[in-house]
Amino acid sequence: MDTRTGHTTFGALWNGEFVRLALMGTAALFTFTGLGNAYIPYDFVAIIATLLGGIPVYEETIRSLRHKRITMEVTMTIAIVASLIIRAFTAAVIIAFFVLLAEYIEEYAVDRARNTVFQLEKAAPRTALVRRGNTEVEVGVDTLSPGDIVIVRHGDRIPVDGTVVTGDSFVNQSMITGESIPAEKHPGDNVYAGSVNDSGLVEVRAEKIGTETVFGKIIKLVEEAEQKKAPIQRISDKLATWLVEFAIGFAFLTLLATQNSVSAISVVVVAGSCGVAAGTPLAIVAIMGKAAKKGVIVKGGSYIEELTRIDTAVIDKTGTLTLGKPEVIKVEALDGYSEGQVLALAAAAEKHSNHPIAQAIVQKAGEMQIAPIVHSTYKVVPGMGIISEHDGQQILVGNPRLMKDNGIDVSKNILSQSVKGATTVLVAHDHSICGVISLADKVRQESKKAITDLKRMGIRTVMLTGDNEAVSKMVADTVGVDEVYAQLLPHDKVTKIEELVAKGRHVAMVGDGINDAPALARANVGIGMGAGTDVAIEEADVVLMTNDLEKIANVIRMSRQGYRAIMENFYGTIGVDGIGVILAFMGLLNPLLAATIHTASELVFIVNSARLMR
Ligand code: ADP
Ligand code: MG
Repeated sequence: MDTRTGHTTFGALWNGEFVRLALMGTAALFTFTGLGNAYIPYDFVAIIATLLGGIPVYEETIRSLRHKRITMEVTMTIAIVASLIIRAFTAAVIIAFFVLLAEYIEEYAVDRARNTVFQLEKAAPRTALVRRGNTEVEVGVDTLSPGDIVIVRHGDRIPVDGTVVTGDSFVNQSMITGESIPAEKHPGDNVYAGSVNDSGLVEVRAEKIGTETVFGKIIKLVEEAEQKKAPIQRISDKLATWLVEFAIGFAFLTLLATQNSVSAISVVVVAGSCGVAAGTPLAIVAIMGKAAKKGVIVKGGSYIEELTRIDTAVIDKTGTLTLGKPEVIKVEALDGYSEGQVLALAAAAEKHSNHPIAQAIVQKAGEMQIAPIVHSTYKVVPGMGIISEHDGQQILVGNPRLMKDNGIDVSKNILSQSVKGATTVLVAHDHSICGVISLADKVRQESKKAITDLKRMGIRTVMLTGDNEAVSKMVADTVGVDEVYAQLLPHDKVTKIEELVAKGRHVAMVGDGINDAPALARANVGIGMGAGTDVAIEEADVVLMTNDLEKIANVIRMSRQGYRAIMENFYGTIGVDGIGVILAFMGLLNPLLAATIHTASELVFIVNSARLMR
């Protein structure tokens, strides 16, 4: 059947359509066994059942012909009409019945797969309990606005993205992250719409509402994903059309050669199969649905296909392989400055930057209760650091390159002040270096296993980073990547990806979205990490809702399985059709047998695709 045209929903299938199917099945059985003979003229029953029961097939045929497309409905209509003409009424009703049966099984399977989206939608909270003055009122979610305080009781779904203001609780975030172990939440923690409050009572300050929430975005992504057809779907549509045309052609040939219209009808029935046309979109929806359940959003079928070809995984270090939460481990003051002064200057420059290093420095200054220097102008130099001005004097915070580019001398002696293997940030004041800050970031627990999994699948792993050689080497050794490129500027990362792609490699770029969005866009597949970071969700082709790198290997493996199933369906269909037409040509098939082979093989292909959901 043609999946581009209207599909029934689960409900409709089990009401009207199922009744139709049951009635037709009865009529087919009735005429086939000849039971009707004694009471009702069975030819009459067969004709009525064929004409009325087959209406969906005829409608689809008319639609196809209008669009100048030969679909399997067209061939089946030809077979049915031909059967009626040669007065093979039983064959006609049986063909019509099997066509409907095959379509319903297919729609049932596709609906099951699509249900992932419906389940998501069902989980979307519709009402919220809001504190308005001294009272609590139940309102529709769409009437909320940022800043509202919503009350979430035990068992309630959290209606907004926001921050806990009072109460402690365990929250099940599996709808968003695929992680089913409840997360502990205390005042100040972020919570996401769609997650369930498993215990306690919390009050949440709304920050994002409705489609703006992470959950709202996921639903939109999954819905849009289905519109983006994978190239393999076009190939399978073409193959289906080609098989259908072949069936019609071969049937004419059979008629001419054997003068046997029953054989000709059997050819049409056995080879007008649509196992491929049905199995391909189903496999893709199944994979997308399964991935979504595990917290991996694939933004379209075409990415599933791309994922099967990935042979190189390029991974950003900071925030991806590491936690991206560096901590200041040492502050070395030089040139007569005090440690406190160095931190105060650095914090002043970094105050408005959202770079993880900046946050670590600001936090350290806060912990040491260093009075922040107020207001300074600042400029971000991506991949290098910050240039800031305070009281007419320049403060530079960043790597040696930033210093050199600004004419500040960095001696070997200065660099030796940093902790070995740590990220090093220099602080310059008034055109000379006044301090060295060392920061350490932790490698994510699952990074090593994730890299090992990818390597085992034959995928080359490459780490890119703007950080220094020593740190990069240490992280690379810990997680075991094949190649490392350090001290890259953001645009060097893009160039690296382009080089690899130009060499014919199929590259997946994995990043956390912070300053690597262009690289994500340039790779064959951009994989964004990060629950809640908008950049990752918007720029990436595949979004990992939890920062669990192991899911990269998982989604590639699932895609490969899906692709294999699609290929099995391709070859299976060609095989069954080929053998079928030969048997029919030789007069070894009648329309009933042909319809059975057709439906049974199609069922096998559909099950082959549907099993991917498990
Ligand atoms: P990564 O590739 O690891 O994500 P970035 O490209 O963001 O790293 O930064 C590369 C390097 O530039 C950092 O290791 C640091 O030395 C320097 N740097 C970048 N931004 C800042 C900043 N805000 N403050 C200090 N140093 C910075
Ligand atoms: Mg980064």
